[in-house]
Parts: sequence; C-alpha cells; structure tokens
Amino acid sequence: MKVAVLGAGVAGVAAAYYLWRDGHQVVVLDRQSGAALETSFGNAGGLCPSFAGPWAAPGMIGKVLKMALQREAPIRFSLSPNPRKLIWLARWIGNCNAERFRANKLRMQRVAHFSSACLQSLADSGLPIEFDYHQDGTLQLFRHQSDLKVVAGITRALDEFEVPWRLLDGDEARRLEPALAASRAPIAGALFLPRDGSGDSHKFATGLAAYLVQQGVAFRYGTAITALVKAGDRIQGVQIDGQAALISADAYVVALGQQTPFLLRPLGLSLPIYPLKGYSITARVDDPGRAPRAALMDEYNKVMISRLGGRVRAAGMAELKGYSLAVDPGRVAFLKKVVREWFPEGVGIDDAQAWAGLRPMTPDGPAILGKTHYANLYLNCGHGSNGWTQACGTGKIVADIVSGRPPEVDLEGLTADRYA
Ligand SMILES: Cc1cc2nc3c(=O)[nH]c(=O)nc-3n(C[C@H](O)[C@H](O)[C@H](O)COP(=O)(O)OP(=O)(O)OC[C@H]3O[C@@H](n4cnc5c(N)ncnc54)[C@H](O)[C@@H]3O)c2cc1C
Repeated sequence: MKVAVLGAGVAGVAAAYYLWRDGHQVVVLDRQSGAALETSFGNAGGLCPSFAGPWAAPGMIGKVLKMALQREAPIRFSLSPNPRKLIWLARWIGNCNAERFRANKLRMQRVAHFSSACLQSLADSGLPIEFDYHQDGTLQLFRHQSDLKVVAGITRALDEFEVPWRLLDGDEARRLEPALAASRAPIAGALFLPRDGSGDSHKFATGLAAYLVQQGVAFRYGTAITALVKAGDRIQGVQIDGQAALISADAYVVALGQQTPFLLRPLGLSLPIYPLKGYSITARVDDPGRAPRAALMDEYNKVMISRLGGRVRAAGMAELKGYSLAVDPGRVAFLKKVVREWFPEGVGIDDAQAWAGLRPMTPDGPAILGKTHYANLYLNCGHGSNGWTQACGTGKIVADIVSGRPPEVDLEGLTADRYA
C-alpha cells in the first residue's frame, strides 16, 4: 500500500519507520527543508515515561492564576478573545479534577511506557543513528523544604503506575550527579526516576529519515500542504502550495503537530489542539566533570536540564498566547540563570543558542491516534509536552492500525472519538 505521512516531525518520522517496516511504500511530506525543524527541534530532550501525564491536574487552575502575578512565572497566558483558545481553555479546565486527571494520566502512561520499549528496541536493533541517547534516569530536584510537600502525591502516583523511584537527600543527589557539588542552588531533596533517559529528537529524526531514504522511503521537503482533498468518505489526495497536481496515496497519516487543526477542519474534523509555547537554550559542555550527566528537573522553576552528548540543554515555560515563535530575551536570560545556579562552571552558557517551540497540546493530555470517519485517513497528532517520549510508541500504534493489525496498546481515550 502507498502511505503518505504528512509531517516530518519526530512523530511523523517514527510513524514512517514503522510503516516502512510493515512493507508499505512510504512518502513523507513536510514544508520545512529537513526533518524535525519545528517543535521536535529544540525540546528538552527528556525521554521521561515516569513524568508523562496531563497538564490538566487538580490544583492547576489555582497555580496558573497565582503564577500570573509573578514576574518570572513559568506559565503565562493571554486572555485575547480567540474562540479556539477559549474553547481549549474551557475543556482544559473541565479536565482539572482528580477523576479526569487519573484517567488521562493512565492513558498517557500506557503510551509512554510502550514507547520507551519501542525506542529501546529500535536503538538496540543496530540502526546507524546517533542521537545522544542515554538512560541515566531523571533527578527531580526540590530546592526548598516547602517544595517537598508535593512528593508524597507524586510517589503515590508513581506507585500506582508501578514506576520505580528513590527519594534522596541533598548529599545523595550530589553523589549521584557529582557536578551538583558546585551548585549555588539549595537541594532540600530529590526524586530519582531510574527508568527515564534523554536524547536529541532532532538528531533522532534526521538520522532515522536518512536511514529510511536509503531504504527507499521518499522524503519530500519544501512541500507545504494547503489542503486534503476528499472524495466521498475517502481522501483523494493532498494539495501542495504551487503545484497543480495532487499527491495521492492509498492511506494518509496526519502528523502535522500544532498545525493539524487547520488542515483537518475543512474536512469536518475539529480537533482541540492548541499551541503551548516553550523555550530552550543549548550550550556547549566546556568541562564534562562539571556538567550534568543525566537529566535534571528543577521543580521550583519547572525547567528541565539534560545532557545531549557534548551539549547541555535547558528548557521550560508554558505560554498560551497563540502561534508566534518570537524568542523572548527575558525567558532566555531566565533559563541561563537557572543553568548557572545549578552548574556555575563547566557549561559555556554565554554562547548558548536560544529557541522557541509550540507544543501541540490537547486539553486533556493524551495524543490523538488512529482512525477517522474517512476510510483512509489516520491521526498521529496532539503529542503535547511529551511528544518525544511518545513518538516511537505512537508511530508503532498508528502503523499497526494502518496495516490492519490490532495495536498493542488499548486505544481507550486515545482516539478522536473522545471529543465527539
Ligand atoms: C520547550 C519544549 C520542551 C519540550 N520538552 C520535551 C521533553 O523533554 N520530552 C518530550 O517527550 N517532549 C518534549 N516536548 C514536546 C515535543 O517536542 C513535541 O511533543 C513533539 O516535538 C511533537 O512532535 P510532532 O512531530 O507532533 O510535531 P512537529 O515536530 O511540530 O512536527 C510537525 C511537522 O509538520 C510540518 N508541517 C506543519 N504544517 C505543515 C504543512 N501545512 N505542510 C507541510 N508540513 C507541515 C512541520 O514542518 C513539522 O515538521 C517539548 C516541547 C517544547 C516546546
């Protein structure tokens, strides 16, 4: 079967890999000049199934409102009267209760742990892809005694989802991550999550795409999709900017990240995916002994710092403000300050590269996967803040569905039907 994958972010490239492995003829279309040049380019690099969960959580509404008053708040939103944003917000608020949180978290955990196993088996399969992958766990750092109040709730949830963890005091955390010895930030305690890892999703996607090209998969970059054209209950083809002829296939997989709703709405498919902007900086490691080895989560500032080979990346912030990719110098300065506090030496922070990206968020949290009411149109979108962690799993799930096999993960709460 000929399958067109729309979007060459980490979700689209992973899906293309599993579809190719199933013996399909695959073509991947993307508007950019290469793979993973939008949200999958500069994310925090965390491969963190232990963390995977929705932003819509009990207590979040109060936290967000309180943060709106802080100068350096990690979360910001504007109340401009954009109907799509307001509908998204209303749905998000509707999911901020214990019952919905638990159901949504279970769904995301299912996908994230499956994805971890898929990525591990892909990494073990000997494909020639180098993406700074390492599984040294995540260290969630709590600066103040008062921050530790949330730990009991977190560990209860980890136990429920059978995720291993260890609670450490400051000295134990410094022994595990020796470069923290020079840290200027206090450590009241830390939660170590040994199953997590890190890796560079841009390197992963470009490496996997290059391998797939060698295997005969076509990647058509610089190809801006303007519409999906339907004929009855099927998609007939994809319209490309500046081209008269449609690109046609037997099946279509939509992996267009935060742009997905714009192309699906004319087909009568209304998906609540809205962009949540975040920032990252990437700095060179000057002294490996004084730079982090594993991934760290500064819980107070909600900033993740991860080691990607000879680089350190720090990322965070959440802005519900629309589609601008402008880099706010204040946000960059804040990320630099946080890295300097934890690692005053060893990281070339002054020359760090800054980036902003748009998380394709669903209001409830889980991605949107699988069939639509068009017989040959499939979804692989809405990966939110955990898209790198979930990419291999969601790619495998969608490839199974396209190939007519039952997926290995229960799809309850993961399809578009939940918004019907
Ligand atoms: C600051 C930040 C930190 C993050 N940290 C983590 C983390 O630590 N761990 C984690 O798991 N996740 C993290 N994420 C989330 C993760 O990056 C995303 O979930 C993931 O990259 C989404 O991948 P995607 O392929 O769905 O979207 P994208 O990477 O955006 O891919 C969509 C593709 O579609 C293409 N496209 C869009 N419109 C069109 C069109 N009209 N025509 C043709 N092509 C089009 C784009 O060019 C793009 O290549 C983070 C995100 C941010 C912003």
